[in-house]
Amino acid sequence: MTARRLPTLLDAHREALAACRRCAHPDERVLPIISEARRPRVMLVGQAPGKSEIEDRRAFAGRAGRTLFRWLEQAGLDEPSFRRDVYIAAVTRCYPGPSSSGRGDRVPSPEEQARCAPWLEAELDLIRPALIIPVGRLAIDRFLDNEPLDCLVGRVHRTRVRGREVALIPLPHPSGASSWINLPANRALLDRALHHLRAAFTRLGVGRARATTRRTA
Ligand code: SF4
Repeated sequence: MTARRLPTLLDAHREALAACRRCAHPDERVLPIISEARRPRVMLVGQAPGKSEIEDRRAFAGRAGRTLFRWLEQAGLDEPSFRRDVYIAAVTRCYPGPSSSGRGDRVPSPEEQARCAPWLEAELDLIRPALIIPVGRLAIDRFLDNEPLDCLVGRVHRTRVRGREVALIPLPHPSGASSWINLPANRALLDRALHHLRAAFTRLGVGRARATTRRTA
């Protein structure tokens, strides 16, 4: 497959994904969320869309997204550039509904994750990304060993994904549901991860990576 054919192949993939109803969600407004990027070299993999995404039809459209895009600004990419150049995928693509505790969203079940996995595998095979950014525990566990976040965030990992060596820079979930990010030592790990992202974006020519690094706010 040549890079020239990627937009056409991704368009066909998006059309098929948009029509997926494997999970038979009772709410007919719950549909797969689709990335806009047409010539990506980088993929971000999140957990699952939230409630805000049902209306907006775009990944990371709510409060967690505002935090994520603030972090990414610090890594040199504004939101429009990121959405244009980075393919935003997820472990599952449809809103799973609220958690039974009433705090946050339900974590997709192992069955839902397995049903949705072929979409992510197809994207990894089509895009052959040079860099993957897994966001949050569920996405990180999809690619790396289950170690504590403070052993994983702040580092560039090199691992084999679908038979190819890929760089991974994991980020914590920006939802605020976990207090992990509030510890000063963990904020420093996030700063380090954003520094690695800035260097990778610059090296790969993604968006308009700017020259200066700020601390996380
Ligand atoms: S969660 Fe995934 S497998 Fe299930 S309906 Fe949505 S896109 Fe299809």
